[in-house]
Amino acid sequence: MLPLLALLAPALAGVEDNVMVNQYGEVLHWDVAAIDFVVDPHNKDGLDEDGAIDAAADAAQAWNDIETVAVEFNLAGRKNGLKGGYDEQNGVYFVDDWTSSPDLLALTTTWSNEEGQILDFDLAVNTGDHDWALDGAVGKSDLQNTLAHEFGHALGADHIDHDASATMYASSAPGEVSKRDLADADVAVIEWLYPDLPEGSEFAERPLGACNAAPVGLGWAVAPALLLAFLRRQVSR
Ligand SMILES: [Zn+2]
Repeated sequence: MLPLLALLAPALAGVEDNVMVNQYGEVLHWDVAAIDFVVDPHNKDGLDEDGAIDAAADAAQAWNDIETVAVEFNLAGRKNGLKGGYDEQNGVYFVDDWTSSPDLLALTTTWSNEEGQILDFDLAVNTGDHDWALDGAVGKSDLQNTLAHEFGHALGADHIDHDASATMYASSAPGEVSKRDLADADVAVIEWLYPDLPEGSEFAERPLGACNAAPVGLGWAVAPALLLAFLRRQVSR
């Protein structure tokens, strides 16, 4: 799998190539400083529910720890019965009857408006086809490791194909925990998306805390996790 990814990846990739755009070509990003999310930890995989919530919080915290960026995730609590869909409620939940490709470990869906402002994300974890662990157990997929990758998508980051050490690298092996911690390449993408720039900069035109109009022309972008690059390009925007 990895050599194939390397062949498909561009030889030189800039940070701007590692962000997602909607179907209007606008870069996906948040315009709020605090991104609240809830977790429905119910699962049939035997994962401890409190542990699953902690794994989500820790995965999000990896991105919060980027000190040069003001945007942060905020765990707003537990909510049972999450199903996803555009409801302006950001959620993490488990899906036993997974209907997408069984190769996928998880799937992050974001909804954005025409300007690329993300309005909602849903992070579904595939418990139908994969065995999960909270401690990096051999032969199982580590939940925090995968969620760290998915939270990157929720911020607007796309896959980083040129750095296998990156959290946003497109594939993962069972037992892997290295994606829990961000690589410099991951940080660079988020700093590019959310720069602290002075007045008059491009970013100042969409300041943090601004509340734009209701979602007009809702677009969506799906970022399948940990999948061969060519398939990602088929289903991503
Ligand atoms: Zn991914």
